[in-house]
Amino acid sequence: MRFASLGSGSAGNSMIIEQADTRLLLDCGFGLKETIKRLERLEVLPEQLSGVLITHEHDDHAKGAFKLAQKLNIPVWLSHGTRVMTARYLPKSGAVTLHEIDSHTPFSIGDLEVTPYPVPHDAREPTQFTFTDGQAKLGVLTDAGNATPHIAQVLNGCDALVLECNHDLSMLQTGPYSYALKKRVGGQLGHLENSHAAALLAQLDTTKLKHILAAHLSAKNNTQALAKQALSAALSCENDWIGIATQSEGFAWRSC
Ligand SMILES: [Zn+2]
Ligand SMILES: [Zn+2]
Repeated sequence: MRFASLGSGSAGNSMIIEQADTRLLLDCGFGLKETIKRLERLEVLPEQLSGVLITHEHDDHAKGAFKLAQKLNIPVWLSHGTRVMTARYLPKSGAVTLHEIDSHTPFSIGDLEVTPYPVPHDAREPTQFTFTDGQAKLGVLTDAGNATPHIAQVLNGCDALVLECNHDLSMLQTGPYSYALKKRVGGQLGHLENSHAAALLAQLDTTKLKHILAAHLSAKNNTQALAKQALSAALSCENDWIGIATQSEGFAWRSC
């Protein structure tokens, strides 16, 4: 199994997970042209995609999903709440195949087994995912206001982790955001701060961990150095071992 990011941050998120001929796009927060351009960078042709998963309805995750799915004639998997809240993105004409998922029930798409799990975030029914090819396990967590015991249980024992490091708390507090936005981002249904991501990581069984990437970094309230520092302290590893999913580039293919 291998995975890559097309880009990550409040201006758009998308990952690709591949096993044999199965290639899933996780979120599509970029427009059609931009998504195709970013796929090209990873040497993936759009028609090689098997389907799209949407974590929740926020623009930076859902904006481009249906258009892409319609163009490629591939299905979209999403929770009931996300389906209701993304209805506005459905194309005016033509159909898109939608599969509603239960956020506690694993399912298979081609060669990948997908395990959804619910997270606390200010969306209707936000769902994050882990992926396995039967051997390795990839865990993805973005857009979570706090790390619940259930999240820790689901992400235990991963071979690869993509973990939200949205903000540094003191940068958020002293930064340019309005009071309301600071409250939202830093709240229980907002985004995971560096120290909470590190605390989550510290409680996981990471004996099999080969890849760790910090994702969904705020452009105004975080730095790559702070995110790396927080996660490397939790793992007692070198700063450079922590990868970053950037807004402009995402990250290149990683195999596990
Ligand atoms: Zn987001
Ligand atoms: Zn969100």
